[in-house]
Amino acid sequence: MKRMISLLCLLGFFLSGCGVSREPAQVQFFAMDTVMNVTVYGKEAEEAARAVQSKINELDKLWSRTNERSEISRINACAGDGTVIDISPETVELLIDALTLADESGGAFNPLLAPVMDAWGFAGQTYRVPAEEELEEALSLAGTMPSVTWKDGGEVGQASLAEVGQKLDLGGIAKGVASDMALRILKEYDIDGALLDLGGNLSTFGEKPDGSRWKVGVKDPMSPQQLLCAFGMDGRTCATSGAYERYFEQDGEIYHHIIDPDTGYPADSDLISVTVVGEGFLADACSTAFFVMGAEKTLQFWRENSGGIGEPDLILVTKNQHVYITEGLEAGVDLLGEESGYTYEIVYR
Ligand code: AMP
Ligand code: MG
Repeated sequence: MKRMISLLCLLGFFLSGCGVSREPAQVQFFAMDTVMNVTVYGKEAEEAARAVQSKINELDKLWSRTNERSEISRINACAGDGTVIDISPETVELLIDALTLADESGGAFNPLLAPVMDAWGFAGQTYRVPAEEELEEALSLAGTMPSVTWKDGGEVGQASLAEVGQKLDLGGIAKGVASDMALRILKEYDIDGALLDLGGNLSTFGEKPDGSRWKVGVKDPMSPQQLLCAFGMDGRTCATSGAYERYFEQDGEIYHHIIDPDTGYPADSDLISVTVVGEGFLADACSTAFFVMGAEKTLQFWRENSGGIGEPDLILVTKNQHVYITEGLEAGVDLLGEESGYTYEIVYR
Protein backbone atom coordinates (compact mmCIF):
# COMPACT_ATOMS: atom_id res chain seq x y z
CA MET A 1 0.00 0.00 0.00
CA LYS A 2 1.20 3.42 -0.77
CA ARG A 3 -0.54 6.73 -0.49
CA MET A 4 1.59 9.56 -1.68
CA ILE A 5 0.65 12.92 -0.33
CA SER A 6 3.46 15.37 -0.69
CA LEU A 7 3.41 18.04 1.96
CA LEU A 8 3.11 20.87 -0.47
CA CYS A 9 1.08 19.33 -3.22
CA LEU A 10 0.46 16.41 -5.46
CA LEU A 11 1.86 18.41 -8.32
CA GLY A 12 5.03 20.31 -7.69
CA PHE A 13 4.70 24.05 -7.80
CA PHE A 14 6.98 27.02 -7.92
CA LEU A 15 6.59 30.18 -5.92
CA SER A 16 9.59 31.71 -7.54
CA GLY A 17 8.69 35.37 -6.98
CA CYS A 18 11.55 37.69 -6.41
CA GLY A 19 10.70 41.25 -5.42
CA VAL A 20 7.87 39.96 -3.22
CA SER A 21 6.03 43.03 -2.02
CA ARG A 22 4.37 41.52 1.02
CA GLU A 23 4.57 38.29 2.99
CA PRO A 24 1.76 35.90 2.06
CA ALA A 25 -0.81 34.54 4.46
CA GLN A 26 -0.37 30.78 4.46
CA VAL A 27 -2.56 28.14 6.04
CA GLN A 28 -2.08 24.39 5.94
CA PHE A 29 -4.76 22.01 7.15
CA PHE A 30 -6.09 18.50 6.69
CA ALA A 31 -9.50 18.13 5.04
CA MET A 32 -11.18 15.80 2.54
CA ASP A 33 -8.66 13.12 3.44
CA THR A 34 -5.70 15.15 2.24
CA VAL A 35 -3.32 18.00 3.07
CA MET A 36 -4.39 21.42 1.80
CA ASN A 37 -2.33 24.60 1.44
CA VAL A 38 -3.72 28.07 0.89
CA THR A 39 -1.35 30.96 0.07
CA VAL A 40 -2.76 34.47 -0.36
CA TYR A 41 -1.10 37.84 -1.11
CA GLY A 42 -2.66 41.25 -0.59
CA LYS A 43 -4.32 43.55 1.89
CA GLU A 44 -6.92 41.11 3.18
CA ALA A 45 -4.79 37.99 2.66
CA GLU A 46 -5.16 36.69 6.21
CA GLU A 47 -8.96 37.04 6.26
CA ALA A 48 -9.27 35.49 2.79
CA ALA A 49 -7.09 32.48 3.65
CA ARG A 50 -9.05 31.81 6.85
CA ALA A 51 -12.36 32.15 5.00
CA VAL A 52 -11.25 29.55 2.45
CA GLN A 53 -10.12 27.18 5.21
CA SER A 54 -13.39 27.52 7.07
CA LYS A 55 -15.44 26.97 3.88
CA ILE A 56 -13.51 23.80 3.07
CA ASN A 57 -13.93 22.47 6.60
CA GLU A 58 -17.65 23.12 6.24
CA LEU A 59 -17.74 21.24 2.90
CA ASP A 60 -15.81 18.34 4.45
CA LYS A 61 -18.50 18.04 7.13
CA LEU A 62 -21.21 18.01 4.43
CA TRP A 63 -19.52 15.57 2.06
CA SER A 64 -17.37 13.16 4.07
CA ARG A 65 -18.21 9.51 3.51
CA THR A 66 -16.67 8.56 6.87
CA ASN A 67 -18.69 11.06 8.92
CA GLU A 68 -22.09 9.43 9.28
CA ARG A 69 -23.79 12.76 9.91
CA SER A 70 -22.63 14.27 6.61
CA GLU A 71 -25.27 14.92 3.96
CA ILE A 72 -23.66 12.39 1.61
CA SER A 73 -23.64 9.70 4.35
CA ARG A 74 -27.29 10.40 5.11
CA ILE A 75 -28.25 10.04 1.44
CA ASN A 76 -26.28 6.77 1.32
CA ALA A 77 -27.83 5.43 4.54
CA CYS A 78 -31.38 5.96 3.22
CA ALA A 79 -30.78 4.46 -0.24
CA GLY A 80 -33.83 2.60 -1.47
CA ASP A 81 -36.08 3.28 1.54
CA GLY A 82 -37.99 6.14 -0.07
CA THR A 83 -36.55 8.86 2.19
CA VAL A 84 -35.63 12.11 0.47
CA ILE A 85 -32.84 14.02 2.24
CA ASP A 86 -32.80 17.81 2.53
CA ILE A 87 -29.42 19.08 1.41
CA SER A 88 -27.50 22.36 1.33
CA PRO A 89 -27.01 24.34 -1.91
CA GLU A 90 -23.34 23.28 -1.85
CA THR A 91 -24.29 19.60 -1.95
CA VAL A 92 -26.83 20.25 -4.72
CA GLU A 93 -24.05 21.90 -6.74
CA LEU A 94 -21.70 18.96 -6.10
CA LEU A 95 -24.29 16.38 -7.12
CA ILE A 96 -25.44 18.27 -10.20
CA ASP A 97 -21.80 18.68 -11.32
CA ALA A 98 -21.29 14.93 -10.77
CA LEU A 99 -24.43 14.04 -12.76
CA THR A 100 -23.38 16.36 -15.59
CA LEU A 101 -19.98 14.71 -15.77
CA ALA A 102 -21.43 11.20 -15.64
CA ASP A 103 -23.64 12.11 -18.56
CA GLU A 104 -21.08 13.99 -20.66
CA SER A 105 -18.35 11.38 -20.16
CA GLY A 106 -20.66 8.62 -21.33
CA GLY A 107 -20.37 6.94 -17.92
CA ALA A 108 -16.55 6.95 -17.63
CA PHE A 109 -17.08 9.19 -14.60
CA ASN A 110 -19.50 7.45 -12.25
CA PRO A 111 -20.37 8.95 -8.82
CA LEU A 112 -21.87 5.67 -7.55
CA LEU A 113 -18.75 3.53 -7.31
CA ALA A 114 -18.61 3.43 -3.49
CA PRO A 115 -19.65 -0.27 -3.36
CA VAL A 116 -16.91 -1.08 -5.91
CA MET A 117 -14.29 0.95 -3.99
CA ASP A 118 -15.38 -0.83 -0.80
CA ALA A 119 -15.10 -4.26 -2.46
CA TRP A 120 -11.46 -3.45 -3.25
CA GLY A 121 -10.94 -2.17 0.31
CA PHE A 122 -9.93 1.32 -0.82
CA ALA A 123 -12.17 3.09 1.69
CA GLY A 124 -10.76 1.47 4.86
CA GLN A 125 -7.35 0.61 3.37
CA THR A 126 -8.14 -3.10 3.85
CA TYR A 127 -7.01 -3.92 0.33
CA ARG A 128 -8.06 -7.15 -1.40
CA VAL A 129 -8.92 -8.44 -4.86
CA PRO A 130 -12.69 -9.08 -4.86
CA ALA A 131 -14.39 -12.07 -6.52
CA GLU A 132 -16.05 -11.54 -9.93
CA GLU A 133 -19.56 -11.98 -8.50
CA GLU A 134 -18.90 -9.44 -5.79
CA LEU A 135 -17.77 -6.89 -8.37
CA GLU A 136 -20.77 -7.62 -10.60
CA GLU A 137 -23.10 -7.05 -7.69
CA ALA A 138 -21.32 -3.81 -6.69
CA LEU A 139 -21.41 -2.57 -10.30
CA SER A 140 -25.11 -3.35 -10.64
CA LEU A 141 -25.69 -0.67 -7.97
CA ALA A 142 -23.95 2.01 -10.03
CA GLY A 143 -26.53 2.23 -12.83
CA THR A 144 -29.43 4.35 -11.58
CA MET A 145 -28.19 7.89 -10.93
CA PRO A 146 -29.35 9.80 -7.81
CA SER A 147 -32.31 12.10 -7.96
CA VAL A 148 -31.35 15.71 -7.13
CA THR A 149 -33.65 18.74 -7.11
CA TRP A 150 -33.62 22.36 -5.96
CA LYS A 151 -36.32 23.43 -3.50
CA ASP A 152 -37.57 26.79 -2.17
CA GLY A 153 -36.27 28.77 -5.14
CA GLY A 154 -32.72 27.42 -4.85
CA GLU A 155 -32.21 28.01 -1.12
CA VAL A 156 -31.89 24.28 -0.42
CA GLY A 157 -32.30 21.01 -2.26
CA GLN A 158 -33.25 17.37 -1.93
CA ALA A 159 -31.60 14.15 -2.97
CA SER A 160 -32.22 10.42 -2.82
CA LEU A 161 -30.93 7.11 -4.11
CA ALA A 162 -33.48 4.69 -5.54
CA GLU A 163 -31.96 1.28 -4.77
CA VAL A 164 -31.01 -0.42 -1.51
CA GLY A 165 -27.21 -0.70 -1.25
CA GLN A 166 -26.43 2.23 -3.57
CA LYS A 167 -23.73 4.57 -2.29
CA LEU A 168 -22.21 7.80 -3.56
CA ASP A 169 -18.42 8.23 -3.78
CA LEU A 170 -17.57 11.77 -4.86
CA GLY A 171 -13.82 11.44 -4.27
CA GLY A 172 -13.21 12.04 -7.99
CA ILE A 173 -14.87 15.47 -8.08
CA ALA A 174 -15.34 16.92 -4.56
CA LYS A 175 -11.98 18.69 -4.34
CA GLY A 176 -12.54 20.29 -7.75
CA VAL A 177 -15.96 21.62 -6.74
CA ALA A 178 -14.38 22.85 -3.49
CA SER A 179 -11.75 24.70 -5.59
CA ASP A 180 -14.51 26.48 -7.53
CA MET A 181 -16.21 27.49 -4.28
CA ALA A 182 -12.90 28.64 -2.74
CA LEU A 183 -12.10 30.80 -5.80
CA ARG A 184 -15.50 32.46 -5.45
CA ILE A 185 -14.73 33.28 -1.81
CA LEU A 186 -11.37 34.84 -2.74
CA LYS A 187 -13.16 37.28 -5.04
CA GLU A 188 -14.95 38.78 -2.01
CA TYR A 189 -11.65 40.01 -0.52
CA ASP A 190 -9.19 42.74 -1.37
CA ILE A 191 -6.28 40.51 -2.41
CA ASP A 192 -3.70 40.53 -5.21
CA GLY A 193 -3.11 36.85 -5.81
CA ALA A 194 -3.53 33.38 -4.38
CA LEU A 195 -2.51 29.78 -4.88
CA LEU A 196 -4.77 27.02 -3.61
CA ASP A 197 -3.49 23.48 -3.34
CA LEU A 198 -6.42 21.34 -2.32
CA GLY A 199 -4.70 17.97 -2.22
CA GLY A 200 -3.18 18.31 -5.66
CA ASN A 201 -6.03 20.29 -7.24
CA LEU A 202 -4.14 23.51 -7.86
CA SER A 203 -5.94 26.80 -8.51
CA THR A 204 -4.49 30.25 -8.99
CA PHE A 205 -6.07 33.66 -8.59
CA GLY A 206 -4.69 37.02 -9.71
CA GLU A 207 -0.95 37.52 -9.95
CA LYS A 208 2.17 36.56 -8.09
CA PRO A 209 3.66 39.42 -6.04
CA ASP A 210 6.24 40.13 -8.78
CA GLY A 211 3.48 40.41 -11.39
CA SER A 212 4.44 37.23 -13.24
CA ARG A 213 2.24 34.22 -13.96
CA TRP A 214 1.92 31.36 -11.52
CA LYS A 215 3.69 28.27 -12.76
CA VAL A 216 2.80 24.70 -11.86
CA GLY A 217 4.63 21.47 -12.52
CA VAL A 218 3.24 18.08 -13.46
CA LYS A 219 4.87 15.08 -11.83
CA ASP A 220 6.57 12.35 -13.82
CA PRO A 221 4.15 9.46 -13.12
CA MET A 222 7.03 6.94 -13.32
CA SER A 223 9.23 8.92 -10.87
CA PRO A 224 6.84 11.21 -9.00
CA GLN A 225 9.69 13.06 -7.28
CA GLN A 226 10.63 14.48 -10.71
CA LEU A 227 8.72 16.85 -12.97
CA LEU A 228 7.55 16.00 -16.47
CA CYS A 229 6.66 19.54 -17.51
CA ALA A 230 5.72 22.92 -16.11
CA PHE A 231 3.40 25.58 -17.47
CA GLY A 232 1.91 28.99 -16.66
CA MET A 233 -1.45 29.12 -14.89
CA ASP A 234 -4.09 31.73 -15.53
CA GLY A 235 -6.84 31.56 -12.93
CA ARG A 236 -7.96 28.07 -13.79
CA THR A 237 -7.68 24.84 -11.78
CA CYS A 238 -5.29 22.02 -12.59
CA ALA A 239 -5.99 18.44 -11.47
CA THR A 240 -4.05 15.25 -12.08
CA SER A 241 -5.22 11.65 -11.90
CA GLY A 242 -2.46 9.08 -11.75
CA ALA A 243 -2.27 5.38 -11.03
CA TYR A 244 0.67 6.11 -8.72
CA GLU A 245 -1.44 8.18 -6.31
CA ARG A 246 -3.17 5.35 -4.48
CA TYR A 247 -2.63 1.63 -5.09
CA PHE A 248 -1.78 -1.71 -3.58
CA GLU A 249 0.18 -4.68 -4.83
CA GLN A 250 -0.89 -8.31 -4.67
CA ASP A 251 0.86 -11.31 -6.26
CA GLY A 252 3.00 -8.98 -8.35
CA GLU A 253 -0.01 -7.08 -9.74
CA ILE A 254 -0.64 -3.39 -9.08
CA TYR A 255 -4.24 -2.40 -8.35
CA HIS A 256 -4.90 1.34 -8.37
CA HIS A 257 -7.87 3.49 -7.33
CA ILE A 258 -9.32 4.70 -10.63
CA ILE A 259 -12.04 2.26 -11.60
CA ASP A 260 -13.33 1.45 -15.06
CA PRO A 261 -17.11 1.53 -14.52
CA ASP A 262 -17.56 -1.03 -17.33
CA THR A 263 -15.55 -3.72 -15.55
CA GLY A 264 -15.22 -2.75 -11.86
CA TYR A 265 -11.46 -3.26 -12.21
CA PRO A 266 -8.78 -0.56 -12.04
CA ALA A 267 -8.83 1.25 -15.40
CA ASP A 268 -6.34 -0.26 -17.80
CA SER A 269 -6.17 2.24 -20.66
CA ASP A 270 -2.93 3.34 -22.32
CA LEU A 271 -2.71 6.32 -19.92
CA ILE A 272 -0.70 6.52 -16.70
CA SER A 273 -1.39 10.15 -15.86
CA VAL A 274 -3.97 12.71 -16.93
CA THR A 275 -3.77 16.42 -16.08
CA VAL A 276 -6.73 18.65 -16.87
CA VAL A 277 -6.70 22.46 -16.66
CA GLY A 278 -10.06 24.21 -16.55
CA GLU A 279 -12.91 24.98 -14.17
CA GLY A 280 -12.34 23.09 -10.91
CA PHE A 281 -15.16 20.57 -11.14
CA LEU A 282 -14.30 19.84 -14.77
CA ALA A 283 -10.57 19.52 -14.10
CA ASP A 284 -11.08 17.07 -11.25
CA ALA A 285 -13.80 14.90 -12.76
CA CYS A 286 -12.41 14.94 -16.31
CA SER A 287 -8.97 13.82 -15.16
CA THR A 288 -10.61 10.75 -13.62
CA ALA A 289 -12.88 10.11 -16.62
CA PHE A 290 -10.17 10.60 -19.27
CA PHE A 291 -7.84 8.24 -17.38
CA VAL A 292 -10.52 5.58 -17.90
CA MET A 293 -11.21 6.53 -21.54
CA GLY A 294 -7.61 6.38 -22.77
CA ALA A 295 -5.68 8.72 -25.08
CA GLU A 296 -7.34 8.12 -28.44
CA LYS A 297 -10.92 8.42 -27.24
CA THR A 298 -10.07 11.43 -25.07
CA LEU A 299 -8.30 13.34 -27.86
CA GLN A 300 -11.06 12.56 -30.34
CA PHE A 301 -13.57 13.79 -27.79
CA TRP A 302 -11.52 16.94 -27.12
CA ARG A 303 -11.22 17.74 -30.83
CA GLU A 304 -14.94 17.31 -31.41
CA ASN A 305 -16.14 19.27 -28.35
CA SER A 306 -14.85 22.74 -27.58
CA GLY A 307 -17.45 23.28 -24.83
CA GLY A 308 -18.48 21.32 -21.73
CA ILE A 309 -16.04 18.60 -20.84
CA GLY A 310 -14.17 19.23 -24.10
CA GLU A 311 -13.31 22.78 -22.99
CA PRO A 312 -10.31 22.23 -20.63
CA ASP A 313 -6.70 21.81 -21.68
CA LEU A 314 -5.04 18.43 -21.23
CA ILE A 315 -1.71 16.76 -20.58
CA LEU A 316 -2.00 13.04 -21.28
CA VAL A 317 0.89 10.69 -20.47
CA THR A 318 0.86 7.25 -22.05
CA LYS A 319 2.39 4.01 -20.81
CA ASN A 320 4.98 4.25 -23.58
CA GLN A 321 6.10 7.67 -22.37
CA HIS A 322 4.43 9.85 -24.99
CA VAL A 323 3.01 13.14 -23.70
CA TYR A 324 0.14 14.91 -25.47
CA ILE A 325 -0.25 18.60 -24.55
CA THR A 326 -3.22 20.56 -25.92
CA GLU A 327 -2.68 23.89 -27.64
CA GLY A 328 -3.89 26.17 -24.83
CA LEU A 329 -0.86 25.20 -22.73
CA GLU A 330 1.70 25.49 -25.53
CA ALA A 331 2.88 29.03 -24.76
CA GLY A 332 5.42 28.93 -21.95
CA VAL A 333 5.41 25.18 -21.37
CA ASP A 334 8.75 23.72 -20.15
CA LEU A 335 9.34 20.14 -21.25
CA LEU A 336 11.46 18.54 -18.55
CA GLY A 337 11.31 14.78 -19.17
CA GLU A 338 13.16 14.27 -22.46
CA GLU A 339 16.23 12.88 -20.70
CA SER A 340 14.00 10.36 -18.93
CA GLY A 341 12.76 9.09 -22.30
CA TYR A 342 9.56 11.09 -22.78
CA THR A 343 8.47 12.38 -26.17
CA TYR A 344 6.12 15.36 -26.46
CA GLU A 345 3.44 16.39 -28.94
CA ILE A 346 1.29 19.54 -29.02
CA VAL A 347 -2.25 18.72 -30.08
CA TYR A 348 -4.46 21.21 -31.99
CA ARG A 349 -8.23 21.17 -32.48
P1 AMP B 1 -9.00 11.27 -8.80
O1 AMP B 1 -7.79 11.11 -7.95
O2 AMP B 1 -9.54 12.66 -8.85
O3 AMP B 1 -8.86 10.67 -10.15
O4 AMP B 1 -10.18 10.49 -8.08
C1 AMP B 1 -10.09 9.14 -7.81
C2 AMP B 1 -11.18 8.81 -6.83
O5 AMP B 1 -12.45 8.93 -7.48
C3 AMP B 1 -11.11 7.40 -6.32
O6 AMP B 1 -10.32 7.32 -5.15
C4 AMP B 1 -12.57 7.07 -6.09
O7 AMP B 1 -12.99 7.62 -4.86
C5 AMP B 1 -13.27 7.81 -7.21
N1 AMP B 1 -13.35 7.08 -8.49
C6 AMP B 1 -12.62 6.02 -8.95
N2 AMP B 1 -12.96 5.69 -10.20
C7 AMP B 1 -13.92 6.58 -10.56
C8 AMP B 1 -14.69 6.75 -11.75
N3 AMP B 1 -14.52 5.99 -12.84
N4 AMP B 1 -15.62 7.75 -11.75
C9 AMP B 1 -15.80 8.56 -10.67
N5 AMP B 1 -15.11 8.45 -9.53
C10 AMP B 1 -14.18 7.46 -9.48
MG1 MG C 1 -10.61 13.61 -10.15
